[in-house]
Amino acid sequence: MEWIEWVLSREFRQFVLDNDLFFPLLFLGRLIGVTAIEVWRPAREVSYRKVILNDLTVFVVYQFVIFPLAQQINRYIAIRPQLPETILAMPLLFRVLCYFVIADFGHYWIHRLMHTKHVWRIHKWHHAPTYMYWLAGTRATVPQQVIVNLPYIFAWSFLGLSPWWMGLAIGMFSSLQNDWMHVNVTWRSNWLEWLIVTPRYHHIHHSDNPAHYKANLAALFTLWDRLFGTYVNPDEVKEEELSFGIGENVPLVRLALGV
Ligand SMILES: [Zn+2]
Ligand SMILES: [Zn+2]
Repeated sequence: MEWIEWVLSREFRQFVLDNDLFFPLLFLGRLIGVTAIEVWRPAREVSYRKVILNDLTVFVVYQFVIFPLAQQINRYIAIRPQLPETILAMPLLFRVLCYFVIADFGHYWIHRLMHTKHVWRIHKWHHAPTYMYWLAGTRATVPQQVIVNLPYIFAWSFLGLSPWWMGLAIGMFSSLQNDWMHVNVTWRSNWLEWLIVTPRYHHIHHSDNPAHYKANLAALFTLWDRLFGTYVNPDEVKEEELSFGIGENVPLVRLALGV
């Protein structure tokens, strides 16, 4: 069991950080772990063999082009408020909670904006797949990523003066959060929906049924949908009757550029 000791050692941690291997290793873990969950208890059939190459390509483009480009643009247009010392002196746990509530509230409204007539084109790509599993949810255009990042950058101010690993932890959380929302799994702990979004909850949002077009927009806390009238109770939707997609043929280049 020497390799376990090595993986848990300080040297290994330093090696991973020095070589920027944290997120590649995390992706490998997601690929194995999340796929295993889907194979174990799938909500519906997905022909992985047909879509995996396509979705891995999308992932690589997202990771190395779309996300970095959006971050560059965000350097010019994001608001980073300077918070008073009294807030920054609050316990870290409280500030992390503030981060998630504020960022998620902003994300809800940005998402709602993207489902309006004129902004829909920048978000269409995310809804384009006619199948649903964890890797199908990676699609985001540059303009979508830029505006979705805004509330997170704003709320990041609450995490000033936090430990060195906070950036990695938040990055890991948002990757897993996105995997979780889209994962193709039958999830029966529906009580969780009183607090957070579950896969079946978000799958309704991807439904091609016009009745669900603006349903369940929340990314983390379901409270926003309940408060602002976009909540559709997953218990009232037959999961097996859901189908996905945007119901129109748009050339891939237009989808990916959001034009
Ligand atoms: Zn959407
Ligand atoms: Zn989605």
